[in-house]
Amino acid sequence: MATHATAEDVEAVVERVEAAGGEAFVSRGVSRVIIGLVGDVDRFETLNLGGLPSVQSVTRISAKYKLVSREHHAERSTVYVGGVPIGPDTVTLIAGPCAVETPEQTLEAARMAQSAGAVLLRGGAYKPRTSPYAFQGLGELGLKILADVRAETGLPVVTEVVAAHDVEMVARYADMLQIGTRNMSNFGLLQAAGEAGKPVLLKRGMNATIEEWLMAAEYIAQRGNLDIVLCERGIRTFETATRNTLDISAVPVVQRLSHLPVMIDPSHSGGRRDLVLPLSRAAIAVGADGVLVDVHPKPEEALCDGPQALMTEDLRRLSAELDDLTAVVGRRLSTWWNRRLLAG
Ligand code: PEP
Ligand code: MN
Repeated sequence: MATHATAEDVEAVVERVEAAGGEAFVSRGVSRVIIGLVGDVDRFETLNLGGLPSVQSVTRISAKYKLVSREHHAERSTVYVGGVPIGPDTVTLIAGPCAVETPEQTLEAARMAQSAGAVLLRGGAYKPRTSPYAFQGLGELGLKILADVRAETGLPVVTEVVAAHDVEMVARYADMLQIGTRNMSNFGLLQAAGEAGKPVLLKRGMNATIEEWLMAAEYIAQRGNLDIVLCERGIRTFETATRNTLDISAVPVVQRLSHLPVMIDPSHSGGRRDLVLPLSRAAIAVGADGVLVDVHPKPEEALCDGPQALMTEDLRRLSAELDDLTAVVGRRLSTWWNRRLLAG
């Protein structure tokens, strides 16, 4: 309450809250009164208590998101994509080309990914490019290529969807729908993805706070889909040495707030091949549930993001280090799981 608030002002707030079915706990300090409200917080927001002249400020303490919060679900979740786990016990490597360009390039990238221990194949058929003149992806043809490569390699497919009206079609081909950084706040798209019956990889908006990111996940969850994996991919800061700044602290912060798995994309955050390995090490050390990495058989010919794509040698090194590091943090690289799968 404001310092000038009278006993009647305090009573007026208490009455409003109680009339809305809530409880109000009044604590009287030397110079001011603080009222703690317990009950339906969203209902309290409709009371517009902050508009009363005797109220100095209203601070919401409970989180705005519910279904994705650890209050709703105390244990950390595991999300299965085509049978592959992403969650607290494993470290999952997802790799593949930034964009699907040709059947040969996609298959070759998938083989590179698989031999490095990737258990899921990434690749965009719809590319949300900053420039409308840049390669926009092959569309449905790209999805068909991904499905063929899945049939060939056995790798389930993660691919981006950029428009709500494409969700159904993309979901017919994909094992997991990716929502990219530029679409994190496209709420119609989030809702459609929540209804598609496929797990969703939700990247953090490059300008989004952690709370906004979790609210975006809540849009998907609200439509009945809790198979959501969050992916930190770098945020915009004043720094220009890297494309974006990987917010490494987002991983433990989010894991404390939400039960959803959290991955890191070291390729899109740095935008540079030489940073992928060090950022991946950091990802595992900080407790990420996996990494999402761009690979390309001929990065110099790539139609999208060639400078950040790993080649075979880098990839071998990455997979060896991931293997060692996952053991250090008491987890298993999900290739272990893959090997078990292959062994029947
Ligand atoms: C991608 O993963 O291909 C991509 C476009 O990533 P982001 O949305 O994080 O830029
Ligand atoms: Mn890319």
